[in-house]
Amino acid sequence: MTRPAFDYVDGVLHAEGVSAVSLAEQFGTPLYVYSRAALTEAWNAYASACAGRRASVHVAVKANSNLAVLNVFARLGAGFDIVSGGELARVLAAGGKAENTVFSGVGKHANEMREALAAGVKCFNVESIPELDRLNAVAAQMGKKAPVSLRVNPDVDAKTHPYISTGLKSNKFGVAFDEARATYQAAAAMANLEVVGIDCHIGSQITEVAPYLDAVDKLLELVEQIEQDGMTIRHIDVGGGLGITYDDETPPDISDFVRTVLDRIEARGHGHREVYFEPGRSLVGNAGVLLTRVEFLKPGAEKNFAIVDAAMNDLARPAMYEAYHAIDAVVQRELPAHVYDVVGPVCESGDWLGRERLLAVEPGDLLAIRSAGAYGFVMSSNYNTRPRAAEVMVDGTQAHVVRAREEVQQLFAGETVLPE
Ligand SMILES: *Cc1c(COP(=O)(O)O)cnc(C)c1O
Repeated sequence: MTRPAFDYVDGVLHAEGVSAVSLAEQFGTPLYVYSRAALTEAWNAYASACAGRRASVHVAVKANSNLAVLNVFARLGAGFDIVSGGELARVLAAGGKAENTVFSGVGKHANEMREALAAGVKCFNVESIPELDRLNAVAAQMGKKAPVSLRVNPDVDAKTHPYISTGLKSNKFGVAFDEARATYQAAAAMANLEVVGIDCHIGSQITEVAPYLDAVDKLLELVEQIEQDGMTIRHIDVGGGLGITYDDETPPDISDFVRTVLDRIEARGHGHREVYFEPGRSLVGNAGVLLTRVEFLKPGAEKNFAIVDAAMNDLARPAMYEAYHAIDAVVQRELPAHVYDVVGPVCESGDWLGRERLLAVEPGDLLAIRSAGAYGFVMSSNYNTRPRAAEVMVDGTQAHVVRAREEVQQLFAGETVLPE
């Protein structure tokens, strides 16, 4: 891309070739806007580093599961990483292939296992012995053999937020490192399972390569033991978690990261195995913004508030993780700037989107909440009976509605009152 997907042209923020002002006028606010070019560029960074190597990329669907987003990746040849039967249905509806899909998640229901086996997913990433038992029983009923990998917890510190760190002993995720070998032996003894790989996922918004290399080293140590026990590990799945720049973070470049991990695995003598990556945030995070309009400016004794029409139900990350999202005025104006807390209309003090932001805005002006493409719309809710925002994808000079704004009637269409 010659210039960033979201950039100012004559003082007005654009998404590729389309003005954010016209998007807001045409489709209303709050509005999620994605850039096809930005999605493609992030994908290509992974794909180019994997080219000619034994490596494949599975897009973590949970970061952004809009069908149009998944379809952009499917057309580029992506595989997918799902965590529910619902996500499998989305992948298939978006043109993705089951045979390029891995099924992660700590609590898979028997029905979800059945659907995934019937569809023919590539691998089940299993996290416990009871889950192995359940999958073995489901596969036996169906007369099939389920391909499995164990999610091993390498107990490395990914140095990220405690809510999004997943590779420590204290997390609910994965099989403990010390129990992994025995768990593999248990899997090998089950008639309807076939051990094919090993996986881990150590956290999210990781901004260094070192924790990945630590995890890889521990996984390879285990792979050697497992193969001594007579199993064949065809693939090593290093999970997702690569971070993005929200503020001043400096995560490794995607291609450098991929090459560093692949080189390490090769250098340790495991280059014959296929390596899987499961990125979510680093593919979609900076490919989306949330547009919102300022309703009121409310000066206060201690703080000034900019009350906007987006809220914690639209973008939960600030309320949930105290996450930082850059916020910019869509139109750069010659106005005195003031420091505001940017807050939504929801009746919760936790309903904030940004704190102490210097903004030159008036009521009616538009703001762009940056880096909203990952864990944005997908985490939105209807709290306060707020219809969920519309989603638009820009492709060059064209804007396509990829999810219509919800109507209030839809929100209680499934509800009934008690009989007289
Ligand atoms: C969430 C998740 C991912 C994606 O994580 P990102 O931080 O968005 O890259 C990958 N794999 C698994 C198992 C996950 O749970």
